Amino acid sequence: MNVPKEMNRYCPKCKTHTAQKVALYKAGKRRGSAIGERRHEEDKKGYGGQKFPKLAKPAKTTKKQTLIFTCPTCKKKTMKHGIRLRKLELTA
Ligand SMILES: [Zn+2]
Repeated sequence: MNVPKEMNRYCPKCKTHTAQKVALYKAGKRRGSAIGERRHEEDKKGYGGQKFPKLAKPAKTTKKQTLIFTCPTCKKKTMKHGIRLRKLELTA
């Protein structure tokens, strides 16, 4: 699916429509020192360490793509709920 880089959308802070910049959401980098990561690493050690079965065949062939809209006047960011797509391209 082709998505334009700029879209005219409603801004809840400005309470008007503005030409907003479109970007694709990407999950942040995982920190190894986070408590959940450390706990998971500790749980996986030893006999019977694998907590849940490793996915042999993923059920989904697509990934949910979330769009982020940034208002140019107030810099407020709004997100659109993820839609399943094979391919998403930001076009001019
Ligand atoms: Zn705004």
